[in-house]
Amino acid sequence: MESLPCKDCKGMCCGPVPITKNERKKIQKEIRKMPVKKRLELKNQNRYIGTCIFFDEINNRCGIHSARPSICKAFGFYQNLVCFKSPSTASTKRYHASEPPAGILSVDFTWKDFT
Ligand code: SF4
Ligand code: SF4
Repeated sequence: MESLPCKDCKGMCCGPVPITKNERKKIQKEIRKMPVKKRLELKNQNRYIGTCIFFDEINNRCGIHSARPSICKAFGFYQNLVCFKSPSTASTKRYHASEPPAGILSVDFTWKDFT
């Protein structure tokens, strides 16, 4: 799979995303197993309004990478999830979520819902 130019992008696509019930549980597990120091460091970072609550501004990456929602994994590779920095990476297929969303991460679910 072709990769995206995410390095130095500062997570420009990391805003509110729909998540399923299972994804919420997976993220909660990931957050709870983090060492307290690491968790607080991620939680207390300054972010622009609209940036995902789990974007790691210090290290310029997703702070919950292994537990990130499927829509985040799919971003950039589908016609309805095009990366504006690399539109040609998207296939002609459309992304369809496998389950209905339980809510929107960063809006309906915030840090208090994962700790
Ligand atoms: S997918 Fe695109 S917009 Fe998102 S971080 Fe990567 S290059 Fe930037
Ligand atoms: S969960 Fe990770 S990849 Fe998805 S929007 Fe948030 S920071 Fe970005």
